[in-house]
Amino acid sequence: MILKRTKKYITNKETIMSVIPVDAKKTMKHDSKDQLMVRLQNINKVYRTDTVETLAINDISLNIKKGEFLSVMGPSGCGKSTLLNIIGLLDKASKGNIEIDGQSTENLSDKQLAQFRNKKLGFIFQSYHLINDLKVADNVELPLLYRTSTAKQRKLLAAQALEKVGLSNRMKHFPTQLSGGQKQRVAIARAIVGGPEIILADEPTGNLDNAMGNEIMDILLELNRRDGTTIIMVTHDENMAKRTDRLVRLFDGSQVL
Ligand code: ADP
Ligand code: MG
Repeated sequence: MILKRTKKYITNKETIMSVIPVDAKKTMKHDSKDQLMVRLQNINKVYRTDTVETLAINDISLNIKKGEFLSVMGPSGCGKSTLLNIIGLLDKASKGNIEIDGQSTENLSDKQLAQFRNKKLGFIFQSYHLINDLKVADNVELPLLYRTSTAKQRKLLAAQALEKVGLSNRMKHFPTQLSGGQKQRVAIARAIVGGPEIILADEPTGNLDNAMGNEIMDILLELNRRDGTTIIMVTHDENMAKRTDRLVRLFDGSQVL
């Protein structure tokens, strides 16, 4: 009887985790990962049109550790996407410095920025951004086209990424033949195919119902917990945010929490 119980503890990961005190779990997770992955110093972003000047980001400084899963919340228009795009090097800050994995990005040329982005970062968007004319596997391969990988390597990596999101059986489908949740899983496969260290997700569950949203969240948590990928996720959903390590709240371009 005792033996059987012991065996159950060993085979059931959930059970093992549930008997470890919460503080010990935190230590386990961050022990080897206390280095910084992202360092924002006094970031400002001003958008100027002919008539209006918008201070979209107002003096934000933020450190994100390697292996951390951070969520960002705040009302519409408060600067969440702008902040994510600046961290993702898709947009330039008007002021301030951003360091990724110890490298200052301030003086990189556009070409160097693109290479850095392609190697280190993976992006996921609310509306998936898949190319409907390309099959699922070809969508996933896209980020690899900018690298010196062979067609065979690309196919293998795409198949592996699709397996990770549970879509091995949809490789030859077109995006229009998939549900919203499946499309987002393809987008995750595309984001992880190049082995990024950081995933940036802008409201990845925003177009999905609760069940599908939770499935996406499960996959992101697995990428974070198992592979140690740093994740920064914008969300409107408190329940999703609660499942992450830390929440940052924005209001009118400023960090308020
Ligand atoms: P959120 O993602 O929190 O809804 P955004 O980061 O998209 O907010 O936008 C922050 C502010 O910056 C908003 O007031 C928005 O209107 C403005 N903004 C965003 N992008 C641009 C742009 N390309 N040109 C001008 N203003 C912009
Ligand atoms: Mg937004």
